[in-house]
Amino acid sequence: MSYLLINNGILINGNGGTPIQDAAVLIKDNRIVAAGLEESIKIPDEKINIVDVKGSFILPGFIDVHVHIMTEGFAREDTIYTPLSLYFYYAIERMKRTINAGVTSVRDAGFADIGVKLAVDKGIIIGPRLQISVSPLSITGGHFDFWLNSGFDIKPKYPGYPDGIADGKEVVRKTVREIMRAGAEVIKVMVTGGVISANDRPEYPQFSMEELEVIVEEAKYRDLQVVAHAHGTKGIKNAIKAGMNSIEHGTCLDDECIEMMISNGTFLVPTFLAMKINKELAEDETSAIPDWSREDAIRMEKVHENNIRKAYKAGVKIVMGTDSGVVTHGRNLEELGYMCDMGMDPMEAIVAGTKKAAESLGREEKVGSIEFGKLADIVISKNDPLTSMKSLGDPNNILLVIKDGKIVKNLL
Ligand SMILES: [Zn+2]
Repeated sequence: MSYLLINNGILINGNGGTPIQDAAVLIKDNRIVAAGLEESIKIPDEKINIVDVKGSFILPGFIDVHVHIMTEGFAREDTIYTPLSLYFYYAIERMKRTINAGVTSVRDAGFADIGVKLAVDKGIIIGPRLQISVSPLSITGGHFDFWLNSGFDIKPKYPGYPDGIADGKEVVRKTVREIMRAGAEVIKVMVTGGVISANDRPEYPQFSMEELEVIVEEAKYRDLQVVAHAHGTKGIKNAIKAGMNSIEHGTCLDDECIEMMISNGTFLVPTFLAMKINKELAEDETSAIPDWSREDAIRMEKVHENNIRKAYKAGVKIVMGTDSGVVTHGRNLEELGYMCDMGMDPMEAIVAGTKKAAESLGREEKVGSIEFGKLADIVISKNDPLTSMKSLGDPNNILLVIKDGKIVKNLL
């Protein structure tokens, strides 16, 4: 049994209330056992490690609900040249960057497998807690079909990694079962085309209603959530109708989508970071974006922010997800700045990246706030995020990161 006391800080606990001055957090092994005014915390009469944060800000570990830890950038053809083992070693460094940026939990929206998750859980490598989808489901020629007109299929293939391409009700059913057998904790479905896929456009709906309903039915048999990559209006509606839990990107959502999301309690993950950076890259003629993505990236970004703002104002539940992997890892908390630009106040954005994000993963009992009994995932910010949210996006301002009661980064 070991105790760790974080003291002399200002506590923003993730629940959205007023920050607490002169605060401390007491951790026993990997759990939070007390948090609040320092003088109100009873210090145990045994050996205790103390970290004085010198007036910095104590926050819950952040949660990014949309990353791809196994990829970075647009150059999908890299997979042709990359030895399979190197593909995994790259992920070690990316996970380190992610946790150093203050993100202690992620939902991997495609590619991370059960071995990657186990390596983190066993403490072999340092990384955020993973909720894995293993392989997203996609139709032939859809957003997760990496087949090129040359006839080459450039998606990584190896034993234990199921292929998510499926067409027709019964094939789709079997594919969901294979993905769950491979350890998926959430099911990801490409219900529309995408910006970075060669053979479609983001507006195209993908999968029939019948297929989508089968996917949700199979996932619900195991109490798994289903999240939808969705840009186009029809695809967004199909996903909500089928009972999916979350719309990722949500670019072309309209008033009807907003109403449906509110009445179904569907989460929205805007992924501003990817939308903004993709557009910047697309406008830069020297960047390495494939030609098939350029026009899509610019067209989608044009309508994205306005539609997300409408959804936000109407009361749709919005949580933090960045699509890091499409963009560089380790910039995750820049997303909170974009959420504020869209209209959230800073405290709301923090809750969207902590407590609410935990709810969207179905892990609110364990993570997402600094409260008695929760896992000790804590981030110390040098600056006040309520007055300088953009500073949170710079990992140099993240002074300390604790995951599961262990200090994994310390610049104090
Ligand atoms: Zn993604």
